[in-house]
Order: sequence, then structure tokens, then C-alpha cells
Amino acid sequence: MNDIVVFGHPSLTSKSENIINIDDYVVNLSKKMIDIMYAAPGVGLAAPQIGINKNIFVFDAGDGPKVAINPKLVKTEGSIVFMEGCLSLPGYYWDIERHEYAKIQCLNENGDETIYEGDELMGRVLQHELDHLKGKLLLKSMTRKQRKEALKEISIKGFPGDKI
Ligand SMILES: [Zn+2]
Repeated sequence: MNDIVVFGHPSLTSKSENIINIDDYVVNLSKKMIDIMYAAPGVGLAAPQIGINKNIFVFDAGDGPKVAINPKLVKTEGSIVFMEGCLSLPGYYWDIERHEYAKIQCLNENGDETIYEGDELMGRVLQHELDHLKGKLLLKSMTRKQRKEALKEISIKGFPGDKI
């Protein structure tokens, strides 16, 4: 069991708001999100995925847990197609085209200005989680044909653990 909401939940398609104060609530939220992410298990989790439309996500691209608050995309380079999934679309993976490299500017859980950047998994996670804060689910990053097939597959098979 976890607190992650799946495709169809309104928070996944709503735009998130900036966090004004990094208070105890936000620090505790970031800790809770890291726990949920690891338990899933996943490499990234954005607040809308637990029903909270605030601009915060957590990730671990192999370098330990990181927190990104009010992130802004400041640089991208290249493009690459790679297999990608989402904890809010559990059990599915698709080939998704994204920038190869991404750099974001944000605050960390201590309120410090922070830069996260990289290619491969790092670049992909940053772009994926940023999309969540814009209310953009993986389905919107697909080609029209892919999306049609994905929606059909989901409507037939549902998600693992769905109550029938
Ligand atoms: Zn996701």
C-alpha cells in the first residue's frame, strides 16, 4: 500500500503552485515523499502524485535522495528516446522522446538555491518530474499513435492491484 494516486486523479492534471515558506510542513512532506518513492519503488515522485498540487518533487538518480522545491528548467540539450514509466501509470513503459540533458534551478529542503543537472537517468527524471508539476502526465509526451494505444491498453487491463 502507498499513497500514490494514479491516472484519472484530478491532481495529476492540475498545475501546481509555488511553495512560499519552507517550513516544518514542507520538510516533513519531502521526507514523506522520499519514503513513498523508495517504497514504491521509484526514482522520482512529485507532490501531485500524492494529491498535493505544490511545486516540489523528490528523486534519486543513483546519488541519494534529493529534494527540488519550486524548480525551473534553465537549460536543455539534445534529444533521445528511452523507455520510461511512471508511478501514477503503474505497470506500463513506453519509449518517450526527451532532451538528453537537463538543468534545473530550485531550492532544496533547507531553502538553499540548488542546481541539479545531468543526462541519462538524471536528465530524464528531472524532466519527468517537472512535467508532473505542470499537470502533464507521461501520456502527453507520447506520439498521437502511442497515446491512442496506451489509453486503449489501460482501459482494458487497468493497473496492477485495481479492484474489479
Ligand atoms: Zn511520473
